[in-house]
Amino acid sequence: MIRETVQARFWRRVERGDPDACWLWRGGTTAGRQGYGRFYDGCRKVYPHRFSYELHYGSIPPGYVVDHHCRVPLCVNPRHLEAVSLSENTLRVKRPGRRGALPRAVAGPTAASFQPELEEWT
Ligand SMILES: [Zn+2]
Repeated sequence: MIRETVQARFWRRVERGDPDACWLWRGGTTAGRQGYGRFYDGCRKVYPHRFSYELHYGSIPPGYVVDHHCRVPLCVNPRHLEAVSLSENTLRVKRPGRRGALPRAVAGPTAASFQPELEEWT
């Protein structure tokens, strides 16, 4: 039952759209440059995208990180998430062009686009 409550609390802070759209975390975020979200799951602070991943796919294997296909740090749509090993993730980060890639447009009537350079919503 506690788990349900935590899940409800989690989804209340998520702007869910179409199944293929980015679902954006609207709760607190870290102060860091990356602008990842943070969520208190009852006993620890976690990244919302990792929490979402575990909800849908089970626990993340040790040594793995959850990568975003869509390059939107605040996205928690499980379809956009993939657990990759740390070494694979490092390769992806170093891949040319990654930083310049723009996130896919957010669908829906309340559409907003996240500007990674400005780190704010427009
Ligand atoms: Zn996404």
